[in-house]
Amino acid sequence: MPFGAGVIWHPGSESHRELPGVGSGGFHRLAPVTPEQELVERLASKRDRVEVMRSLVGGVKATELRSVHLTDAALDALSGGLEHSNPQIRWWSIQLLDHCADLRAIEAIVPLLDDPVARVRRNAVHALSCAACKPDWSGHLADGVIARIALMAEADPNTKVRTDAALALSCHTKSS
Ligand SMILES: [Zn+2]
Repeated sequence: MPFGAGVIWHPGSESHRELPGVGSGGFHRLAPVTPEQELVERLASKRDRVEVMRSLVGGVKATELRSVHLTDAALDALSGGLEHSNPQIRWWSIQLLDHCADLRAIEAIVPLLDDPVARVRRNAVHALSCAACKPDWSGHLADGVIARIALMAEADPNTKVRTDAALALSCHTKSS
C-alpha cells in the first residue's frame, strides 16, 4: 500500500497529541547505530524500500513474509521505527512487524492505536487483528487493547479507522 502524498494530518481534528518531531526539537532520537536501524530510516525512501524490506525481513511479498523470522536486531530496529517522528516510517514499521508473531512486536504496536495519523492507527488496528499475515500468532490480546479497539470502532474521528476497528473486533471475536 503506498503511503505518502495526500496524507495530511489536521491538527486538532483527530487527537490532542502533538505530532512529534516536526521542527519542534522536542522529540529525542539517537542517530542510527545498527545496520538494521539504518535500514529502518530508509523505509522513508520509496526508492530504497523494496531493498530495505529484503534486507530487514527477507522478503517483500505476503507469501514470503508469512514465514519470516525476524532477528532480534531487526525486531528492535522496527520497534524503534514505531516511535519515529516520520509517520511513513511508523506506518512501514507496523507493516513489517505485522508479519511477526513475536509477542514483543504485538506489544510494541499497541501504543500506535493512539497515533495522531489516521493511516498509522488503521495499520496498527490491522496488525493487532491480523492472523493471516502471521499464522503463528495465538491472536491473544490484553483486555485493555480490545477495549481500546472497541472505543476506536465507536469514536475514532476517522471513518476508515472506525470501520477497520469494527472489522478487527469481529475477527477477534471469531477467533477466540
Ligand atoms: Zn496483516
